Amino acid sequence: MGKLEGKIAIITGGSSGIGLATAKRFVEEGAHVVITGRREKDLAEAAAFIGRNVTTVAGDVSNLEDLDRLYAVVKEKHGHIDVLFANAGGGTIAPLATSTEAQFDQTFDINVKGLFFTVQKALPLFKDGGSIILTSSNANVLGVPGLTAYAASKAAVRSFARGWTVELKDRKIRVNSMSPGPIETPALDKVGLPPEQVEQAVAQFTSLVPLGRRGKPEEIASVVVFLASDESSYITGVDLAADGGMAQV
Ligand code: NAD
Repeated sequence: MGKLEGKIAIITGGSSGIGLATAKRFVEEGAHVVITGRREKDLAEAAAFIGRNVTTVAGDVSNLEDLDRLYAVVKEKHGHIDVLFANAGGGTIAPLATSTEAQFDQTFDINVKGLFFTVQKALPLFKDGGSIILTSSNANVLGVPGLTAYAASKAAVRSFARGWTVELKDRKIRVNSMSPGPIETPALDKVGLPPEQVEQAVAQFTSLVPLGRRGKPEEIASVVVFLASDESSYITGVDLAADGGMAQV
């Protein structure tokens, strides 16, 4: 028996990085996963990688109509969900002095507004308790130059988890957040830096990690499986950092 045998799980941002590794692990643990991402092609490749028990729905989590469409598909196919991994997110590296309104809005549209409505609109699909896991970031407690809008958006995610833990307690839905440190995913390639500066940023982040390396997406997937499964049945409202100790020392 897998740890998620027979569970129905939605994973936003499931076509790449942490979300994809988690989707693969969830299926290995017996779940059926519905993954979302913005590009059909990436989702098709992700589904082929996961191999079985996976449904894909393309859409943007900051677009409420896309969320309605996603949940309509899930309702039609499965009728309910047990687990929601609200993981889609991203941001731009930009210092305070030169950040643009568009960069700021994009970060908050995905990480704050998108995540808020991802959870709100999923609620009718939870029938008999469940587990919601939100992807924050250890940046939410660190002072990282150039990442302050991103960090603030991820601090909001942490606040959501605290409040929703109380709001959803009577429905037996546990809500936890999870804060990765630097993880080996394509995310840093998308923050708008030239490749040599990406390498510098990786070296700088890694030098601050007591375990001395970036984490692998599979190491984050293990944390999410724990929070999604009954192994964490008495845990709600926490933030679980998986950051090689970076923000803990
Ligand atoms: P990634 O770029 O590999 O994957 C991001 C996923 O999110 C993709 O599937 C993408 O399609 C999806 N996505 C992005 N914006 C979206 C939108 N508007 N609507 C729908 N889907 C959208 O990145 P990752 O590193 O796997 O990041 C996953 C999460 O982990 C993010 O929330 C990120 O902020 C967080 N995180 C990552 C790191 C890291 O070092 N990689 C560290 C801390 C937190």
